[in-house]
Amino acid sequence: MQDKHMLMIPGPTPVPERVLLAMAKHPIGHRSGDFSQVIAEITADLKWLHQTTSDVLMLTVSGTGAMEAGIVNFLSPGDRVLVGNNGKFGERWVLVSRAFGLDVEEITAEWGKPLDPEAFREKLEADSQKTIKAVIITHSETSTGILNDLETINQYVKNHGEALIIVDAVTSLGAFNVPIDDWGLDVVASGSQKGYMIPPGLGFVAVSQKAWKAYETAKIPKFYLDLKAYKKATDKNSSPFTPPVNLMYGLQAALKMMKEEGLDAIFARHRRLTEATRAGVKALGLPLYAPDEAASTAITAVMPTGVDAEAIRSTMKKQFDIALAGGQDDLKGKIFRIGHLGFVGDRDILTAIAALESTLQTLGYQGATPGSGVAAAAKVLG
Ligand SMILES: *Cc1c(COP(=O)(O)O)cnc(C)c1O
Repeated sequence: MQDKHMLMIPGPTPVPERVLLAMAKHPIGHRSGDFSQVIAEITADLKWLHQTTSDVLMLTVSGTGAMEAGIVNFLSPGDRVLVGNNGKFGERWVLVSRAFGLDVEEITAEWGKPLDPEAFREKLEADSQKTIKAVIITHSETSTGILNDLETINQYVKNHGEALIIVDAVTSLGAFNVPIDDWGLDVVASGSQKGYMIPPGLGFVAVSQKAWKAYETAKIPKFYLDLKAYKKATDKNSSPFTPPVNLMYGLQAALKMMKEEGLDAIFARHRRLTEATRAGVKALGLPLYAPDEAASTAITAVMPTGVDAEAIRSTMKKQFDIALAGGQDDLKGKIFRIGHLGFVGDRDILTAIAALESTLQTLGYQGATPGSGVAAAAKVLG
């Protein structure tokens, strides 16, 4: 059957019809008065979503472009930075930081385990000369489904006083509470195809006043990603370069939907979907990769035993047209990942768990009682 594709990967995520329709319009001039109003509305709503009164800037890039902007605008070659690395995206922070000549000290944890905040505390407390310029971490580590303890790590950064906290919130923004001003987060990067419920193509960077001060002395060369240009334009309800006009119509509609639902309700929904997914998978006898206390609310990674992860994925795709994500690097073939981020509701989880049960039967897996996964998920949702 055509057009029944169900996207349950951690990005791109499903897009609501209201958003798709909002994008299905002729573009208008990006310097027109009408478009200025669109930028003004989006900018105000982005600040609401980010829980900040400071700046949230929009770039025509994927999430990695937003990460790169978060580095090049606020640091100089040779700057000492602590980078948390417990998965593919933590590793990406290391690679971006090294690419621009930063003096990188990695704080690692095994994949599937959260970063240890105490490791950050020790380094930060030992730094009496205040040589650490930034602490750079991934909040929700999409490759493993781990949520790192940003709040505690950030507290140690605040105690240090000098270092900036630079955060990849690509799969936590819009799925988990990230109160930027309350916590005092300096640079927060995200991307459109995750919690925003719109297609890929836009990156976002939230910038604190402290980060703008660091901008003044930052020496890494930049042009397209120079955030000051975006700030100057945004302050005049404009953009420095041609923005993706239609994608921004979509963003305008998506932010409106998010405001109608409300931040607390959005976070509660993601928590509920996560708990239901985890309960369903557990009841089927499949081991969860991330522990309960460090589970991302965007994605659930499963490490099946007695049945092949890639066979599960291909059967889910072939039989039900449900797309799940696989494992990356060492986890290739060992885990599959269920995305439940953005435009996802209870029905999607029940469908995915039911399809997973059926898939396990097809593959001859003996470890589960038919119906047990759906029953466990339904109990959480009911
Ligand atoms: C998706 C994602 C990114 C950005 O990836 P792009 O492909 O550049 O959009 C960055 N960090 C995390 C944690 C992600 O999940």
